[in-house]
Order: sequence, then C-alpha cells, then structure tokens
Amino acid sequence: KDVKVPIESIDQLSKKSFPLCMRLCHEHLRTNHHLKYDGRMQYGLFLKGIGVTLEDAIRFWREELTKKMDPEKFAKSYQYNIEHNYGKKGSLKDYAPYSCAKVIQENVVQGSVNGCPFKYYDQSTLKQKLAAAGLGTAHIQDVAGLAAKHHYQLACAKYFQVTHDTNVEVAINHPNHYYLQSQELMG
Ligand code: SF4
Repeated sequence: KDVKVPIESIDQLSKKSFPLCMRLCHEHLRTNHHLKYDGRMQYGLFLKGIGVTLEDAIRFWREELTKKMDPEKFAKSYQYNIEHNYGKKGSLKDYAPYSCAKVIQENVVQGSVNGCPFKYYDQSTLKQKLAAAGLGTAHIQDVAGLAAKHHYQLACAKYFQVTHDTNVEVAINHPNHYYLQSQELMG
C-alpha cells in the first residue's frame, strides 16, 4: 500500500504496466504538454493510486504543462488542483482513483483523451493505437473485435494478456488494479 513510485520511472511503467486508458493520457501529455481537465483528473488520480507522491506529481505536471503555460498560472490553479486531489487543499478529501465503470461512462469531448479507449475510439483508430502499442495483426483483431461488441473490459483483459505474454485470466475492473496485476506478474 505504501509503495512509492518515483516519477522518473513513469515513462517505462506506462509502456509495461499501464492500461491503455492511462498509457494514452501519458503519451498525450508527453507529446502535447497538455491534458484537458477530465484527463488530468483521471490520470492524476491514477498516478496517486500507484504511489506517486504529491511532490513528484507537482514536479511532473509542472515540467510538462509549463512547456506551454505560464508558470504562474500553473502555480495558481493547476497546482492547487493536484494538491486538492491529494487531499491537501479545499475539502481535504482524499479523492479515490477512478474505477473502470467510472472511466467507461465518462463523457469524452473532441480532442480529449480521458475515458476508456476501447469504448471511445472507432475501430480504425483503435486498431492504429493497438498497433502503436506493439500488438500484431491477429491480436489487434481479437482486442478490437471485443471492443466492437461493447465488451470493453474483456478487450482490456485481452490487451493485458497479449502485452504481458501470458494466458493468466485477469478480470479488469479498475485501472489501478490492472497496474497491480501487471506489477505482480512481472515480479
Ligand atoms: Fe482503462 Fe478499464 Fe478501459 Fe481498461 S477497461 S482501458 S482499465 S477504463
């Protein structure tokens, strides 16, 4: 429960142990130095859940977002939101990372990368993303086929098996649980 994950290891972890929803948030942030509010909530709480400290989280978001944003603006509103999510500001509530049920029913607006990719991408975009994540043609068909039938969590479980090269049956109902199962498998 108290495992701390240094922010320096996030790029590597995102490729190995993040579910696709969080991997895409991470890549979008790294590439565009921006994430809309809903994506920042979804991804920020996930990072908190895997053990990124508040200090590391602030450093990470500041480094990325201030590539495009005035540091004062970051300090005034964005940093506040991060502290708020860690229960250090405002209501002082320690906010819980989102479950799959919550991520799946998120409203995804144009240009945003929050939500569950197995739901919000059309088939051809999803297949491109899966190919970019290193899946071969047959596996892409399997995963995208499940998504097409609206079996998002089964598609995610299949993605887990393929990317971990395992036949172990996994049930995916929480992105943070996905991460823990991945870490367990990899020892
Ligand atoms: Fe993320 Fe859950 Fe969708 Fe997998 S099924 S991509 S963990 S929201």
